[in-house]
Amino acid sequence: MRAWALGTGGWIPTEERETISVLVREDTDALLLDAGSGVRRLVGEPALLEGVRRLDVALTHFHLDHVCGLGYLPALPLVPTVWAPGRWLYGTASAELLDPLRRAPLSPFDPAELGEVRELVEGLQSIGRFEVATRAQPRHWAPTAGLRVGAALALVTDTAYDPESAGFARDVAHLLHEAWSTSDQPVASEGDATAAEAGRVARDAGARRLTLVHLDPRAPDEAALLADARRLFPAAQIGRDLAPLPL
Ligand SMILES: [Zn+2]
Repeated sequence: MRAWALGTGGWIPTEERETISVLVREDTDALLLDAGSGVRRLVGEPALLEGVRRLDVALTHFHLDHVCGLGYLPALPLVPTVWAPGRWLYGTASAELLDPLRRAPLSPFDPAELGEVRELVEGLQSIGRFEVATRAQPRHWAPTAGLRVGAALALVTDTAYDPESAGFARDVAHLLHEAWSTSDQPVASEGDATAAEAGRVARDAGARRLTLVHLDPRAPDEAALLADARRLFPAAQIGRDLAPLPL
């Protein structure tokens, strides 16, 4: 299995960072975790999808910085299936929640070009060749799903610090965790985690690697974020768009 960070920012794309999306590949199957503006990297770097015959997209939640890339999917060589936590976390079908984005007047595309929408469920499910585990994260502005792909990779984003994230990410090879701010920033965000909290989750989970993602586009003080995370997890790295993620 191989993985790349396509977008490592939150909220607003910047010169360095698209908003969040992670590509995981196994043989001819590819899975995207979230569909932020980072999906555009697949258009600019078509080799990333070379040989892929099946593409799926799993969403953590419906905030625009995580779903705007769904509108780029018709530029890819194959039509994906989109998996989202609407029914499970919102009591409303994911297709219904995404519907305005997928038709006129917001979308110039026919919904068929944007792929079928299916439901992510709580716990384990098979998506193509991938064993995907989910966990409800109730501490964001809207509920979000933690996503984990087998023993290889977990994405924990858009959640304030949650001690149960460590159990979810137990022994994972590579944890990607949100790091919206540093611990000493005067106004911490109530619905997002700090870099130190990302480090704490990685340490408590026994993760082999930690990459900080979903960074605040206004305050990318990378040295401060890294120092904050490394107090608890010395191997922490800053997320970089298009960087391969060792598994
Ligand atoms: Zn969000």
